[in-house]
This record gives sequence, structure tokens and C-alpha cells, in this order.
Amino acid sequence: MRTRPIVVVGGGVIGLLTARELALAGHEVRLFEQGHLGREASWAAGGILSPLHPWRYPDPVTRLAQPSMEAYPALCESLARSTGIDPEWTPSGLMRLGEDEGTEARRWADHFTVSLEPKSLGEICPDRGVDGAGFWMPAVAHVRSPRLLRALEAELRILKIAIHEETMVEGVTRERERLTGLVVNGETIAVSRVVVCGGAWTRSLLERYGLALPVRPMRGQMIVIQTPPGFLKPMILKGGRYLVPRRDGAVLVGSTMESVGFVKETTEVARDDLIAAAHGIWPELAAYPVTHQWAGLRPSSPDGVPFIGEHPEIRGLFVSTGHFRNGIVLAPASARLAADLVLERDGTLDPRPYGLDRVAEGARDAPVLK
Ligand SMILES: Cc1cc2nc3c(=O)[nH]c(=O)nc-3n(C[C@H](O)[C@H](O)[C@H](O)COP(=O)(O)OP(=O)(O)OC[C@H]3O[C@@H](n4cnc5c(N)ncnc54)[C@H](O)[C@@H]3O)c2cc1C
Repeated sequence: MRTRPIVVVGGGVIGLLTARELALAGHEVRLFEQGHLGREASWAAGGILSPLHPWRYPDPVTRLAQPSMEAYPALCESLARSTGIDPEWTPSGLMRLGEDEGTEARRWADHFTVSLEPKSLGEICPDRGVDGAGFWMPAVAHVRSPRLLRALEAELRILKIAIHEETMVEGVTRERERLTGLVVNGETIAVSRVVVCGGAWTRSLLERYGLALPVRPMRGQMIVIQTPPGFLKPMILKGGRYLVPRRDGAVLVGSTMESVGFVKETTEVARDDLIAAAHGIWPELAAYPVTHQWAGLRPSSPDGVPFIGEHPEIRGLFVSTGHFRNGIVLAPASARLAADLVLERDGTLDPRPYGLDRVAEGARDAPVLK
């Protein structure tokens, strides 16, 4: 008798890596995406492999971030080898200008044994006429998100995962407390388990099944300033705005935080704000053109801790969403944790802080972290 497949809903970084993890464990996996793979929040991301202010989050965020940061070099190397697409993992370091929150930052760094050195920008980038005191985080790397997503898509095809694009999952079916199927185009497909990785759209799918996850869209806009390759080496963060230098000289400037529902348009106001921030951090950027602007919808959660777990009343229905500003950095460990739960494997992470029962416990009404 043919076994029923495991289905992943959503083709962002969370869904793609979760599907990969399940397939690598030897399971038949199908992935459904309402649009096209890797075109939503994950595509829009700056690809910084660290929360910008890790000490502002509850510890479970760092507990996912640390193993993910460690996993990224080997993951990117393996993807580049198997698919020919290099996600450009680049250990550039992150300079954080300004000494505010120094005490919390140091306490966090000591607790998690992270390197956080008081330094000036002039020390990191000598002879460039820039300065400003702050903290240097040498271990922070970045990836080129669209390339990571293209590499993951190619890898999923190599792993023979059935990918269904432009196919919205409309619902699930159940027999008493057990999930039995998935509703697509009005038809039911028999499945063994489902993992919903629907990013900012997850809530509308699950609300019908009594799970009102406090996950909402939070728009983020970015621009690119094109400079010559090697113009800027480290990532720099100041006052909530940051620069991410790509290998080809593109300098990404991010990012806004706007609660405007499911509206993905870019705005002049954001563009002007990001240009001013970039010139404030690195004045020489004023000599180079802005070549791109885009927006994406982050799946915001009240405290930035994602929801990863099984539906409290429907066995076999799993969720992984709410990664908010940190979905790229948290993705490898999130995918591992989701797969551990789906496959009932023993894992290294305690799943309880990510559990869906937090909804009932009041996560619903907590203010959204900025
Ligand atoms: C401007 C910006 C900058 C960012 N920078 C960073 C960064 O530097 N570092 C970092 O770690 N994170 C960053 N993030 C956050 C990160 O992008 C997100 O946390 C992450 O991409 C979320 O991934 P996801 O797979 O959950 O969501 P998405 O990438 O949005 O994917 C969800 C997918 O599910 C599909 N879907 C939803 N419902 C259904 C359904 N019913 N049926 C079928 N398909 C469905 C959607 O179409 C979508 O493709 C940034 C985000 C933005 C917007």
C-alpha cells in the first residue's frame, strides 16, 4: 500500500527548508505554494544571519539563531555543490553604531558566549574617513536571499519533492482529532501530515480550525545603492537602519517596519528615508545611484518567537510561522525542529517555548515588538 505524503504549505525559506529536512529523512514530500516559490518575505530579506538586536528578544530566539548561524556555511556550500547556485554566504561582520543598550548587549553576549567587541567604525574601516563608536560583531554573516531560495528550489527538485505552484491550499479535512487530508481546488488529497509554513498568510488558513495565531503582515521596504565591488566590506547598523554589502558592490539599505496589512507597494517616503539613513551612515554613498526598491511582508509575532508545533486539537496538523524579522537566520534550526516534531524524533531543542498553546495563554494580545 502506498503511504500518504507529508505536505508542506508555503514556498518561503521556512517551507523550503522544512520540505528539504523531511525529504532528507526519507519521506515523500509535496509542497504547495499559492504563488511562486520564494517570492514573498523570504525573497525581500536582507539576509543578515543574526537578529539586529538579539538581546531585545526572549532567549528562545537566540536558541534557534545560534545553531542556524552555525549551520549556514555548510548548508550554502552543500547547496552550491549540488545545484550550482551559490547563496553567497559572506562572513562580513556587523558593526553596530551607537552605544545604547550596551549593558543588555554585553549581558546577552556573555550569556550566549558571543563575540561583541567595543570598537569604532574607523578601526574596522581605516582610511575611509568614517567614524563612530559602537560594537563589532565579527561572527555575523549574510546570504543573498534570492540566491538561497533559488538554490533551495533546485535542491528540492533534485530530491524529487513534488512542487505545486499557483496552488492555494484552501483547508484541511479531519476525522475526529486526526488530520486526514488537504483541500486544494475544491478537492481533497489524502495526506499523512501537513506543515503550514504560510508566513504572513498563515492566520487566515488556520483561523477556521480554531487557531487564531497572532501573526500579522508587517511591511518592510529596502533599496539598493550600486557601488563598485569591494566599496563596503562590513554590514553597518545605526538607529534601526542598516547597510548590507553584496559581493557585486550592491549595497542593500533596510528596512522599514510598517503595519499596513497585505499591501506590498513601495513608497517614496520610505525611499527617501532609506537614502537619508544610508548617506548618514556612509556619506560617500551619495555619489552612487539607487537602482532598486522593493517591499515584503514579514510574518510578525508579538515577541518575535516563532510558532512551531502541532495544532492542539488536530493531530498531524503542524505550523511553523511568525519568524518576523529573523526568518532567514532562524530557518535551518526551525526546519529541523519542525521535522523533529512531525517525525517524532528526539531533537536537541526544547520545543515548548515555540508551542501553539501560547495562543491560548495570551500571546494574542501582546504588543508587537519593534
Ligand atoms: C525588508 C525585509 C528585510 C528582512 N531582512 C531579514 C534579514 O536580514 N534576516 C532575516 O533573518 N530575516 C529578514 N527578514 C524576515 C524574513 O524575510 C522572514 O521572516 C521570512 O522570510 C519568513 O519566511 P516564511 O517562509 O515564513 O514566509 P514567506 O517567505 O512569506 O513565505 C510564505 C509562503 O507561503 C505561501 N502561502 C501562504 N498561504 C498559503 C496557502 N494557503 N497555500 C499555498 N501557499 C501559501 C505564500 O504565498 C508565501 O510564498 C526580512 C523581511 C523583510 C520584509
